[in-house]
Formats: sequence, C-alpha cells, structure tokens
Amino acid sequence: MTERGAEKRERASNESMSAVIDPRAEQALDRIKAALSRRKGDEAVRFYEDACAHGLIPVDESALAWLHRTLGKDWTDKLISAYAGLPCFYCNKGAIRCEECKGRGYDEDRTLCAKCLALGIDRCDFCGGSGRFTINHVPQAFQLPMMIRRIVAARKEADALLDVDVPAISDSEPGRTRKQAAKNLLQVNRLMGVLENMAVAARQLESRHASERDTIRKALAACEAVAPKLRKRTFQLLGVLARASKLELGTATRTESRRLADRRAEFYGRLAASKNLDSAFLRRPFLFSDETAAAVPAEQPESPEPPSTPTAA
Ligand SMILES: [Zn+2]
Ligand SMILES: [Zn+2]
Repeated sequence: MTERGAEKRERASNESMSAVIDPRAEQALDRIKAALSRRKGDEAVRFYEDACAHGLIPVDESALAWLHRTLGKDWTDKLISAYAGLPCFYCNKGAIRCEECKGRGYDEDRTLCAKCLALGIDRCDFCGGSGRFTINHVPQAFQLPMMIRRIVAARKEADALLDVDVPAISDSEPGRTRKQAAKNLLQVNRLMGVLENMAVAARQLESRHASERDTIRKALAACEAVAPKLRKRTFQLLGVLARASKLELGTATRTESRRLADRRAEFYGRLAASKNLDSAFLRRPFLFSDETAAAVPAEQPESPEPPSTPTAA
C-alpha cells in the first residue's frame, strides 16, 4: 500500500503554498505536538478539531499537505494514528449491554435471548460493533491513511487471534470454557466490525480518490482476505459453546441450570451447524455478499453501493 499519489499531490501543493503561518495556528500545532508527545491522542484530536473550528487549519483535502509542511510528516502520522485509535463514544470495545435481556442472556423462564446470542452483550449500533470512532467523523484528508492503518492493525490482531486455537473444552470446568469461547466470539465479531466498516469506507473513498484506486483496492482485498478466516473461527467458537454447554448439562444439578445448559447446547449447536450467520449480532453483509439481507451497519454511506458490487480481489 503506497501513498505515492498523495505525495505527488502534496509536493505540488507545497510548491504553491507560501511559507507563512498564522502565529495562532503555530500555537495550536505546538499544543497538538505536546499532546502527541505525552501520548494523549484524544487531547491531540481535541486541539486539532478546535483549531479547525477556528479556521486555523484547512479542513478540506489540502489539510494533509498543509500539516506535512507545518507539523512535519512524523507528527502528522502520529496525529492520524491518534484518530485511528479513538474509541467509539457509545460503547466499550463495540459491546453494549443487551437491552432485550438486560444483560442476562435469558429471561426469567430461562428462554435464551436470540438478539445477543444469549451472551447478554449486544453489538453497538453506532460503530457497527467495531468499538472504533466512525471514519465519517474523521477529517476528510485523514480518512484514507486512517483506513489503511486500521486495516493493517485489524489484520495483525486477526492473525494473532487466529494463531491461538479455540479454547479446549475442560471436562471439569465446562462453564469456564463457555465463557472463554464467548469472550473470543466477541473479539472476533469486533474485528469483523472493523473490517466491515473499512470495507464500506474503501468503497466510499474510491470515488473520491481516483488516483489512489490501487491502494484502496488492495486495502479492500486485505479485508476480504481475512474476513472468511474470522467467519470460520466464528463457527468454530459456536461449536465450542455448544459442546461446553452440553457438558454443563451433564454436571448441572439445579433444574434452572440444566434448562439453561440444555437450551444453550441446542441453540449454539444449531448456529454452528448453519451455513449462514442469520443473526443480526454476527451478520456482516458488507463483507459477505451472501448476508445482504441483513441490517445496514452504522458506517454505511448515505448513498451506498450495493454490497454485491464486484470488488478487487
Ligand atoms: Zn440479550
Ligand atoms: Zn460503539
């Protein structure tokens, strides 16, 4: 993924710009730098947005070139990374308490909550369960480099996650295995959320950055390459949830616990055996064209291309 096109544009832009900066802008940049050097990414972003709001920093596509010239490339990169690392304002790592079951995963009668896959935790609608600040709220000039950063980071995280086997089922503590598998399932689903949002962003950015088409297509292809592996892991984890629940059924003594374990074993077993993830919790229609009937994710553009649009492979 190169940024050669961007560099070329930047050079042209630098040549046409005068070297004079407003002293107030200089002050704002110093504050941003200071926050970045303290590793306070959120503060740096706040100072940056404040400076933009006061007209001290350009808010259009020329911002990147302007920053490279005034702040320097390293600090600009750090600022973009700060944006890339911002969490979603509404959730914790893409997860919120499920309102349907009040976070329990089942009701009084031990009927499982299908909305949250009986986990008690739902995915955040605002960020599509990615846990990340939505790209539409990031300055335009940063969106492309930020998208690439997020994809690279998500791929690394996915590789690390897939490197570790699914939890081994403990005969003595199947409940612990089930909880571990549930935790892993949430991690996988969050990463899928990041990839899905970035796949949507890539399609959106392609129309705005014709000269970066190759970079964007590569980024999109990277999302599409790792997503099936994560989906496969999702099914494996559902299988672990089913088997651990079955073991729990064998060890549970109380009627309610037995009922719950029995229902979980059946529910997760059915999901693990299905070919398509037809639950809104796991569905990722913008990564997988066979899931197009699903709800629209939070970061979908206002006039989206249909999910089945052919993409670079
Ligand atoms: Zn629920
Ligand atoms: Zn969120």
